[in-house]
Amino acid sequence: MTVAETAWIGVGSNIDGPVSQVLRALDALAGLPSSRLLQRSSLYRSAPMGPQDQPDFINAVVAVETTLEPLELLHLMQDIERRSGRRKLRHWGERSLDLDMLLFGGKTLRHPRLVLPHPGIPDRAFVLYPLAELDPTIMVPGHGRVSELLDRLPASSTASIINNPEWQV
Ligand code: ATP
Ligand code: CA
Ligand code: CA
Repeated sequence: MTVAETAWIGVGSNIDGPVSQVLRALDALAGLPSSRLLQRSSLYRSAPMGPQDQPDFINAVVAVETTLEPLELLHLMQDIERRSGRRKLRHWGERSLDLDMLLFGGKTLRHPRLVLPHPGIPDRAFVLYPLAELDPTIMVPGHGRVSELLDRLPASSTASIINNPEWQV
């Protein structure tokens, strides 16, 4: 029998209609095969990492219960990215859609195409704020609880909730 796991997926976009891109991605993730959407966070706005001469990002996080294998899930996430028209412009640069697998149950993995938990989690406000909205007690293997990681973020590292996403499309 295949055991269902909970995967946490981070969503981000900063070009080509970022709010619409994120909302469409949330719908696409809700429609993943062999999976069920458990939770979706609010939308957040965050300053870009890396190159600063690019627009702010719109971010969200979803929790999905799935019987897919982690690499199967990654491939389906990459299909959703491609369908958004994603082009690779520059490292940590602007993109129409970025889907990162943050956590897959309590699994740790170092595969050439998939590292779990996602190594950026402890440093990224735009991941920790929405994760904490969904469940601050989530354990990030090797790092501790989301609430603890949030407490350790520098005060300058923030993400702000968007209350009326339909106004920002
Ligand atoms: P970062 O991973 O630091 O957020 P990025 O999202 O800009 O950077 P991408 O260009 O989207 O990086 O992805 C590069 C590669 O990362 C992908 O081809 C994928 O195989 C690999 N990868 C490794 N671990 C993960 C993960 N947990 N989630 C998504 N992709 C991952
Ligand atoms: Ca990313
Ligand atoms: Ca990515």
